Amino acid sequence: MQENCIFCQIIRGEIPSFNVWEDEDTFAFMDINPVHDGHVLIIPKEHADDVFTVSAAASGAVMRTAQRVARSVRAVVQPDGLNLVQCNGAAAAQSVLHFHVHVLPRKKNDNLALNWGLQPGDMDHIGALAKCIRADLEAN
Ligand code: 5GP
Ligand code: ZN
Repeated sequence: MQENCIFCQIIRGEIPSFNVWEDEDTFAFMDINPVHDGHVLIIPKEHADDVFTVSAAASGAVMRTAQRVARSVRAVVQPDGLNLVQCNGAAAAQSVLHFHVHVLPRKKNDNLALNWGLQPGDMDHIGALAKCIRADLEAN
């Protein structure tokens, strides 16, 4: 854990978040600047900046959770497609230095660039989606 890392603070509950999944090694919560409905971030509880420093155990655990969350996001929002995206370094548009995987639902012809701009979402809507995704994860 890092004192000033925003995602470590989310894990510790010091910053509010719409959580959808937690296990021993990973944490999953809604992105507050969603590209589309159902945009979720998966992080390891163990802090690492990026893919270059994260442990094999933590990255494996994150991918297992990402797969599980992706299935629930697909069930809830029924996107046309879905990317798992992971960014490293400013040029690759990494803005938070705590390793994370985006579960990123896609719409047909959305012309999304890989370095997308951040647009704040509607918190009530994000919270409602979190509830549905959480319920699907608990049921499966
Ligand atoms: P990156 O650009 O580093 O791959 O992605 C970081 C993501 O974290 C962005 O999509 C951004 O919207 C999200 N993010 C940044 N700060 C917060 C926060 O305080 N809460 C949540 N839920 N997401 C955040
Ligand atoms: Zn951290």
